[in-house]
Amino acid sequence: MSDGIGSADCSRRGFLRRFTLGAGAAALFPLFSCDANPGGKGGKYFKSWERSEALPDAEKLGVALVGLGSYATYQLGPALQHTKFCRLTGIVTGTPEKKDQWYRRYAIPEEHAYSYETFDRIVNDPAIDIIYIVLPNGMHAEYTIRAAEAGKHVICEKPMATSVADAEAMVAACRVNNRKLSLGYRLYFEPHHEKVMRLGRDEIFGPVREMRGDFSFRIGENPDVWRLDKELAGGGPLMDVGIYAVQAAIYTVGTLPVAVTAKEETVNRELFSEVEESIAWELEFPGELRAHGASSYSRGANIHHAAASDGWFELEPAYGYSVVRGRMSEGELEFPRVNQQALQMDAFADHILNGAENRVPGEMGLRDTKILYAIYEAAETGKRVALEL
Ligand code: NDP
Repeated sequence: MSDGIGSADCSRRGFLRRFTLGAGAAALFPLFSCDANPGGKGGKYFKSWERSEALPDAEKLGVALVGLGSYATYQLGPALQHTKFCRLTGIVTGTPEKKDQWYRRYAIPEEHAYSYETFDRIVNDPAIDIIYIVLPNGMHAEYTIRAAEAGKHVICEKPMATSVADAEAMVAACRVNNRKLSLGYRLYFEPHHEKVMRLGRDEIFGPVREMRGDFSFRIGENPDVWRLDKELAGGGPLMDVGIYAVQAAIYTVGTLPVAVTAKEETVNRELFSEVEESIAWELEFPGELRAHGASSYSRGANIHHAAASDGWFELEPAYGYSVVRGRMSEGELEFPRVNQQALQMDAFADHILNGAENRVPGEMGLRDTKILYAIYEAAETGKRVALEL
């Protein structure tokens, strides 16, 4: 079955379709142009959802969170209380006690609470339009594919997958089932980062000559966490947080890298027996531009810096949920705090409902998976690895 939408949902969808095509749509969803080319230079940065009223609850798209761990509990669940176009309507968990907790907190009834074994029954649940995969990385592919096959749109957390083949299969499954796929790349919706995209791509300080990014944190001494398990994590800090520095380099200049070199360093071989402890890489862009990146589980760092021909700009802390601080050679970069996750989920709902740009599509996750694994290949072989993206 390619679409698990029941009659109640059809009527809701029908209403939305009629509504968004009619005069009400123009009032609620003014068609400001979106950044039509997230990876390209120039472009506009207005986003329709920022200036829109919230839909009534009954008209919002329903979201089910899969894997009720730290990120789902402390970020996504709360963020879904602030979204305008989507809302929390379901959960999938392997821990039965969590069902009661989520029922008490968000009134998710038993009929919309699933386990991994009953997951596929979501096909018959019209309250759920979007499935948000918040599981350990090694489980993203299986559940994204099962969600698409259940006829649901999918948001998958970063990193998308633990192999390029898996990422390709995820994109293909969504395409075949005619479902939309998006990644949990929240920083695309954060104003400091949007400003950095403008500064770099529009060459406000002249062409960017060099970039430096580092996202690192101390993971602690517990060897039993999934982030240290190769099968569940796919790799170490690069997969977990270094991906943000890779992404920032690309969206700052709106150009794709053509090659990569890298070096891995693991000192504590007992704790880091399966994944790297620290890694550094250099992304080679066309021309002279280089982006130096690093990530570690044994120290702290949180920076993105760009040096251009006539000035510089940087974010530090760069990648946080709440506090992001920016500076440039001409002074501070100050923007109000936003709920990144709420904006990210609303943008995807706006894409589904109104055809707004999917700024962080599955293809972008596939691209990044290729880059991450090229970095690992470069570190392993000591050779420059060419990228074909
Ligand atoms: P947690 O370990 O806190 O939660 C993962 C949850 O997945 C568990 O609580 C559990 O939920 C479920 N699960 C199912 N099978 C397993 C298994 N074999 N081992 C461990 N957990 C399992 O992880 P996070 O919430 O920190 O991360 C989840 C995903 O979100 C990762 O892909 C991570 O990269 C991403 N993430 C993204 C962030 C962002 O800023 N975009 C920030 C943090 C994480 P249950 O008990 O309900 O079954």
